[in-house]
Formats: sequence, structure tokens, C-alpha cells
Amino acid sequence: MAQNNIRDPPRISVVVRKRPLSEREISKDDLDIIEKRDDTNIIVKERKEKVDLTRYIEQHLFTFDAVFNDTVGNEQLYLEAVQPLVAATFEGSKTTVFAYGQTGSGKTHTMMGNPNQGINGMYLLAAKDIFHLLEQEEFQCIELFVSFYEIYCSKLFDLLNKRKFLHCRADAKERVQIQGLKESNVTTIDELMKIISYGLSVRTTGVTGANVDSSRSHAVLQITFKIFEGYKGYTKQEKKYKLHSKMSFIDLAGSERGADTIDQDKKTRIDGAEINKSLLALKECIRAIDQEKKHTPFRGSKLTQVLKDSFIGNCRTVMIANVSPGLSCSEHTLNTLRYADRVKELKKMKSAPISKEDHLAKMLMLPRQKGNATKIKM
Ligand code: ADP
Ligand code: MG
Repeated sequence: MAQNNIRDPPRISVVVRKRPLSEREISKDDLDIIEKRDDTNIIVKERKEKVDLTRYIEQHLFTFDAVFNDTVGNEQLYLEAVQPLVAATFEGSKTTVFAYGQTGSGKTHTMMGNPNQGINGMYLLAAKDIFHLLEQEEFQCIELFVSFYEIYCSKLFDLLNKRKFLHCRADAKERVQIQGLKESNVTTIDELMKIISYGLSVRTTGVTGANVDSSRSHAVLQITFKIFEGYKGYTKQEKKYKLHSKMSFIDLAGSERGADTIDQDKKTRIDGAEINKSLLALKECIRAIDQEKKHTPFRGSKLTQVLKDSFIGNCRTVMIANVSPGLSCSEHTLNTLRYADRVKELKKMKSAPISKEDHLAKMLMLPRQKGNATKIKM
């Protein structure tokens, strides 16, 4: 990333990713109205009809930490925007990657990939690096646990346990615990992929096989790093762990879903206000963290409540704003970029000092400068 120095990455960074026009959009003569000006600037050309029907174009310029064009694949996006968080997670930071944007803009493609087309998502690309680093002697004590749940209408459902309804509770120290959330110990990439692919199928088809509208839910995939500390008892062989850090990948609900609609199958009203509330609360929390405010409004939504521990203390966040290129989506695209701009505009935070990350970055052969991105051989 142009402004993102690997040695001193910002605590919060906001990047934009433009997806290519789809075949359907091309067949409908939809126009590409998004232009990447340079590494950090993007222009949206909004076409308007004047009263006299003379067409004119209004240009909106936005500046972010990085802009990724429609030719950039998941691997390059990962290397430039997400890989720095892997080293930070090994260092003990709680790191979070968000995919924000309207339905169809590429959030799931970015985070979860497209297994049918052999495209890896951010979580898997990160996991490959994580397993690679775990082979190092110094990290032998770390074990990985994965959980995957969704937040729908302010309720939590375990995607790794038959969409079981989960309760969350805050303890005396206001730490939020999700009770009964399944956490699977993973030791190989194949194990992780199988688990996530099961969770993704539960997310889109539910447990009854009926289609579920996943664009209305936030999906939270967390890879927790725990340090093995020994056994609890001689006979039970129950293991004892200490939490080290956590890397979260969040595929947010479609940003346009903040309006009420009717479920055509059930003819019931779906409350969009909840989605709206959670996306606004998320923005407010990131903003509060950025400004080092004493009070952060975590209680504003279930999403921010359960993510609280990833936002306090030593943490790093990357927000990927996904945009569709078509003229038909211009209003939603502008809304997405305005939201992302509000998140980014408030970046005034100094980065926390980094000690060992440089050494970890070397192990990962992290790109030191733009255009110098090296793929990791697995
Ligand atoms: P969302 O999760 O935001 O609703 P999806 O990730 O499902 O959107 O993407 C919508 C469609 O566009 C999918 O068919 C997906 O494969 C395709 N798509 C999204 N981003 C890209 C991209 N960067 N390159 C190619 N196809 C993409
Ligand atoms: Mg999706």
C-alpha cells in the first residue's frame, strides 16, 4: 500500500476494491463509471440528466490508503492489504479484516474466495501464511482454533454447529463471552478448509436446505491463537491454554440492506434498521478507536458488542470497501465510498511500536515496497 509502511503500518487502514463488470452487466450495456486515478485515488463518474436532457457528468474523487483496480486478484490484494496483519497477529495483536459494500460488490468473493473457480479468499491466504510460520521453532507452542458464526437480526447463530442459537454475556469486567460457541482445533489447511466450507454451506442454505438470504447477515470467521501451557490433570489430559491473539474476517451484511423490505416467500416485513444500526455502530467504534476516545460505543449493536475485544488494546483493522463498477449501482457505490471515507477521514492514530514484526515480515518475505510484492512459496 502506498502509505502503508510495513515497518509501521497504521492501526486502521481503509482500502477500496473495484470488481470487474459482470457478463450480465456487460450484456445490459451497463457502463463502468469507476476510474482508479492512482494508487490512492479513485473517481466515480456520476451521470445525471439535466432538465434540458443534456447529459453531464459529475465527478467524485475519494482518497484511501490504497485503491485496487478490477484487474487485481485476491492474492495481490492479500499481499498488499492483509498480509501485514498476519505478522501483527503472531506478535499478539488482535487483527480484523472487514469487507463492506452493497450486495453483489464482491465481499464474499474477497473474504471467502470462490472455491469452484479455485480462488482463495483472504482467510485462506492468511491461514496459509499462518501455518507456514507455525512451523518455526519459536511458534511451536501456539495452537489454532477456528469459529464461524453469523449475526442475523441481532441474534448469533453458530455456523459450525447446525446454526445453533447462541447467547452472549458480558462478565464483570465487561468482557463479552459467546456461550457455547464451537471452537475447532485445526492443525492443517485441509482441516480448516473443510470446516469453513461446511460453515459456508450452512450460511447459504441453512440446516434445512432452504435458501437463506446471507446478504442480511454478518459472517464472523475467527482464527484464535492459543498458547499451550500444559495439562490440567494427570488422568484427564485436558489441555490448558492461554489466549495469545486472534485474527477475524468479517463478511458484513449488504450495506444497502439497511432498509425495510418484504420477504416474498413468507410475506413478512424484514427489519433493515438492525443492519443499519450495526453498520453505523461499527463506523462509530472505529472512529472512537482512531481518536483514542475514552468511551467507545460498543453497546450500539450486537456486532460491535461481540467484536469488542478485537477493538481494545493492541489491535489492527483493515476495512476493504468493495464497489461494483456499473452505472446502475452508482448510488450504492457513492454511499459505500462515503462510509469508507468517514472511517478513513478520522485516521489520526499513531501506530503502536513494533518490536519483532520486522523479523516476522522477513520470514514471510513481505513486500517492502510497492511493486515488490513477492508470493510466498507454500
Ligand atoms: P457480495 O458478497 O458482496 O454480495 P459476491 O462476492 O457474492 O458479492 O460477488 C458477486 C459476484 O461477483 C459473484 O459471482 C462473484 O464471483 C463476482 N465477483 C466479485 N468480485 C469479483 C472479482 N474481484 N473478480 C471477479 N469476479 C468477482
Ligand atoms: Mg456475500
